Formats: sequence, C-alpha cells, structure tokens
Amino acid sequence: MCYTASLTMASSTVKLENSPAMQFLISSREPLTKTHNSISSPELTDYDSLPEFLKHNEFILSYYRSEWPLRKTILSIFSLHNETVNVWTHLIGFIIFFLLSLYAASISPLGTTNSSSTHFAASNSSTYYSFVPANRTVIETEPETLPPAITRWPFYVYLAGAMFCLLMSSACHLLSCHSARTCYLMFRLDYAGISALIVSSFYPLVYYSFTCNPFFRQLYLSSITVFGSAAVAVSLVPVFDTPQFRPFRAVLFACMGASGVVPIGHKMMAFGHRPEAVLTTGYEAVMLTFYGIGVMVYATRVPERWLPGKFDLAGHSHQLFHVLVVAGAYTHYLASLVYLGWREAEGC
Ligand SMILES: [Zn+2]
Repeated sequence: MCYTASLTMASSTVKLENSPAMQFLISSREPLTKTHNSISSPELTDYDSLPEFLKHNEFILSYYRSEWPLRKTILSIFSLHNETVNVWTHLIGFIIFFLLSLYAASISPLGTTNSSSTHFAASNSSTYYSFVPANRTVIETEPETLPPAITRWPFYVYLAGAMFCLLMSSACHLLSCHSARTCYLMFRLDYAGISALIVSSFYPLVYYSFTCNPFFRQLYLSSITVFGSAAVAVSLVPVFDTPQFRPFRAVLFACMGASGVVPIGHKMMAFGHRPEAVLTTGYEAVMLTFYGIGVMVYATRVPERWLPGKFDLAGHSHQLFHVLVVAGAYTHYLASLVYLGWREAEGC
C-alpha cells in the first residue's frame, strides 16, 4: 500500500520521475502489475513460477496453468497447455470404454439366444470367439443342451474399473492446477482410479478361469481386492504424491499388476491344453508389456529428461504412459471377451 502511494506522489513531479531512484521504482513496479493481471486474466506460466504443489516434473519447462479460477480451469479443456494431451488421451479412452460397455451389454448370453439376437459364439473346437450379427442364423455351433447362464458381473466390474480410472485421470489432469486443495483431492482420486483398473482387471481373469473352483476364485479375488484397498489407503498419505515418491508409486502399482502372473500361471497349469487359455494368456502378455513399458516411461520421464522443454506440449512421458494404459486396458477387454465366450459356451 505504502509502496503504491509513493509511486503516485512521485509521478506528479517531473524532476523526481526522471531521477535514477524513480526509474528504479517504476521498473520495480512492473512485476506487481503483471502479477495482478495474471489473476484477472490467467496466462500460461513457466516451471520456475509455479507454487510447490504444481512442481511435479522439472523437465517440462513451460505452458503451465497455475491457480486459475475454477471456471477458467474447466474451460481450459478446449485450450492448449501442457496438460491438454493428458486430459484428452484418457477422456477419449473413457469414451471408447463407455461405447464398448454399451456394446457388450447389448449382447445376449448364449443360453438365451434366438434368431433375432446376438451373442458370443464358440466353435465346437473352441478355437475362436466372436460376436454374431443379429441377422445371421447360427446353425453350426448350437449345442444340444445349453449350458447354464454365466454371470457377467466380473466383466462389467472390469469395464467400470477401466472407465473410472480413465475418467478420474482425465479430471485430475484438467483440474488439479486450480488450487493445492483441489490438487490433493484429484491426485487421490487418480490413484484410486489406477488401483481400480488393476484390481478390476483381475475379475474376469480369475472369475472365468476358476468358475469351477470357488476356493481359488475367492482366494485370488479377495487377495487383489485387499491389495488394491491397501494401495488406496497408502495413497492418502500426503507424501505419497511428492516427486521423491514417484519411483515408489511406480513400483507399488507395478507390483499390483505383476501379481497377476500368479492366477495366469495357475490358469495355464490347469487349462494349458485349452486354446482359450492360451489365447487369453497371449493377450495378457501383451497387456503386461504395454503396462510395463508405461510404468518405465512414467518413472524415468523419458524423453523430456533428455531434452527439457522440447516436449512440453506433446510427446512427454506422461502422455506416452496414458496411451500405453489405454492400449493395455483395451487388450484386456479383448481377453475378457474370450473368457466370457468360453464360459458362456461351456458353463462350469
Ligand atoms: Zn496421468
């Protein structure tokens, strides 16, 4: 206040205005004016100007939004900044999974099929699974006795988990720049979403592989659910999302995902002679490869580490991580279709 008043008084005197001291004061006033304007009309800023809660990657140097008003933050989904691609990669992923869910829900189970419906169909040799268009009549694969209806809730749990993860991630990248409080909340939802995706991925794998073995079905499902819940609980600790804990976060979520090799290995020992088991394991290997590369990229922050500032808008590690997550999740969706087709064709 005093500083501004002295500036006003000085500006009324030409002599003072031209003095070295006044020139210094006038030049010192510019940052104040700039700061004020940045509040009323938010502009993108650089890493060095960020508050501590927004400093997550020192290799991304510019195009940051910092403490923007909420409305402006939400509308920034349509503008270009260093989170735009992160927001849209997972928002598009969410839309894809939403449409896949509608499609999957429109497919009638094998046991209730008729000539006007569609369903999962399996050949007698069980070498393929596919959706059969509504206007085709299935004559070569109808079994004499229809198997009992197989529940689909594990499949829908997976779809819901994937959609929750993708939507929370997108929202986190869009909104967390608003304030430290919003950032804290959105990061927790983001970590919960990652845990939900990993845990829900186990449901179709375990449920349909061990449909006829309730003991191992319950053992695996309860184990991964407890593991995921523990990860969410750990993520509530504030220090969890500090840059120093990035490797710990990567290892925690990687271990959750990697624990899937136990039920997958068990499935191959029990059903290794079945083409469905081999095919789903192939999909799962591809999925784990996508996730594995994604985790490494996330943890190492390549390529922006090599050329800081060159990948601010496009091509930085988190964007690559997002694309790999969607690819991995879609691969597991394909595996889930095979599981479902297998059990709906055969039952237990
Ligand atoms: Zn992300």
